[in-house]
Amino acid sequence: MAVDLHLHSTASDGTDAPAEVVRRAVTAGLSTIALTDHDTLAGVGEAHVEAVRLAIGFVPGTELSVVWPTGTMHMLVYHLTPGPGPLQDELAGLRDGRDVRNTRILAKLAELGAPISPEAVEAEAGGGVVGRPHIAAVLVARGHADSISDAFDRFLARGRPAYVERTRLDAATAVDLARRSRAVPVLAHPHTIGVAAADYETAFRELAAAGLAGIECHYSEYPPELRTHLAELCERLGLIATGGSDYHGRYKPDIAVGFGRGDLVVPDEVVDRLAAVRDG
Ligand code: AMP
Ligand code: ZN
Ligand code: FE
Ligand code: FE
Repeated sequence: MAVDLHLHSTASDGTDAPAEVVRRAVTAGLSTIALTDHDTLAGVGEAHVEAVRLAIGFVPGTELSVVWPTGTMHMLVYHLTPGPGPLQDELAGLRDGRDVRNTRILAKLAELGAPISPEAVEAEAGGGVVGRPHIAAVLVARGHADSISDAFDRFLARGRPAYVERTRLDAATAVDLARRSRAVPVLAHPHTIGVAAADYETAFRELAAAGLAGIECHYSEYPPELRTHLAELCERLGLIATGGSDYHGRYKPDIAVGFGRGDLVVPDEVVDRLAAVRDG
């Protein structure tokens, strides 16, 4: 059976409630899922209850943005449980850093002739962690962009005029904090880190030395050759080849739970290997 280890809910910038994400996974015929909302474990409790009710495997998790010199690096952290802990204790500070950034993004948007209110963005986020997709959705609703991706292209993506950095952990620090929290760090969608495919091995070795357990090789946007190449690299480096859809509900309308753009298959053996790292 297949699994999906990269899913967002209304606890961050997905548009389905955590329990709804679980129900979609059951409908998709998956055996296990991980909920990986940005900088929060707030959806994990609700998702876990629904997963137990519907007898599907569940892994608590989060997705962090970390500092990496050449690009955007996201770290998925599996088996991170709510409550105090080395990494858990950092999450509130990371969320505060988002508030600071969001205020600055809205100021830039106003200067650029696309004023939107913080109240509208808060309402769009519905009480969850606010991310750029919420800002993008409000820009679309107010007629300042044609679609979420258009809003990123015009304003919000890195290098675009309303982009603002936010507080992030260093990559190796995040990996180390995760391991000290008995959680399992995995590099998300490696194409965003700004490293040529030929140089992946060097970057992965550096992260593996810090305690990284796996790489997200099976990803919606990747052609089959890249998935295979990444999985072979994992095999060679002793890393786990993981994967997931990066489902965000309506914010990424072409991505489905479990299937990505239709051809995603994440093997279920990955789940046991991640648990073995936690238990090791
Ligand atoms: P944030 O956590 O606020 O930095 O926003 C990151 C989220 O924005 C990612 O998880 C994606 O869901 C989304 N995102 C980033 N870049 C783009 C893009 N170019 N087009 C659409 N969505 C994007
Ligand atoms: Zn997101
Ligand atoms: Fe990501
Ligand atoms: Fe994600």
